[in-house]
Amino acid sequence: MTLPVEAGLEAGALYVVATPIGNLGDLSPRAQAVLSGVQRIAAEDTRNTSGLLAHFGIRTPPGGLVALHDHNESKVADGLIAELAGGATLALVSDAGTPLISDPGYALVRAARLAGRPVYAVPGPCAAIAALSISGLATDRFMFAGFLPARSAARRAAFEALKDEPRTAIWYESTHRIEDSLDDLVAVLGPERRVCIARELTKRFEQSITLPAGALRDWQRDDPNRGRGEFVLVIEGAPERADDREAERVLRLLLAELPASRAARLAAEITGAAKKPLYQLALKLAGDAESESE
Ligand code: SAM
Repeated sequence: MTLPVEAGLEAGALYVVATPIGNLGDLSPRAQAVLSGVQRIAAEDTRNTSGLLAHFGIRTPPGGLVALHDHNESKVADGLIAELAGGATLALVSDAGTPLISDPGYALVRAARLAGRPVYAVPGPCAAIAALSISGLATDRFMFAGFLPARSAARRAAFEALKDEPRTAIWYESTHRIEDSLDDLVAVLGPERRVCIARELTKRFEQSITLPAGALRDWQRDDPNRGRGEFVLVIEGAPERADDREAERVLRLLLAELPASRAARLAAEITGAAKKPLYQLALKLAGDAESESE
């Protein structure tokens, strides 16, 4: 069932509100209604949020905006939880996109949950999901790991971990490192792995392209303008090997009759696959089966 935008706010609840990542038209009517209706808004940068509210003609009561950023979050969260307990309705926003996604808010939401307060999502823009949705890369399984490390050695280690990673990987990247990151990516994952660069999503100079990594690095270098702005990198997962699939099939059969450790050991012996990942998979499959039967 769908609810109308004007459905009322709940006293004592925290609303986690996504805001635009570039195009103001992406602030949803519901987000506007919630930001208009709450008693207080916790914002990553109050000046930035004031501008957004002013654009939409949303007025907050005096003291209605409180700064909540990486350096004060735990301290501010305590006071906000007390306000929620007193029946205030609060919203959380960051500078752009979905709060908590490489943005502040985790301490507040965690504390609200621990205090038993209701927490509601007002979903909207998120650069990672926007980039994934237009990348043309597999979306059935993906991982997001925030910003790529700033130093080359750490970045290469992050790419090393993707060598056998079957899921599509999404990373945020900052302007001045994109070329070096692509160099590291090609050096570690090779020139053939397909990669999408999504730049300045929803903004005037939005651009996105998906190419094999080597060709993408050349494309990036061709025009200095392509190095400007905000970026998301979406990296194709490693192809699954046929023998991995066979090992999983055998493991599933054995698991129907045997405990996880014996099933994993036998599946490894039968197929020649490594035992440890099979054991981890067996535990997961056994756990899934247990929760399905509950
Ligand atoms: N919370 C945000 C979200 O939901 O996407 C992310 C905040 S994080 C501090 C900022 C990073 O997100 C940027 O450095 C960039 O990697 C990515 N990003 C944000 N807006 C973007 C846009 N319009 N186009 C491409 N990437 C963007």
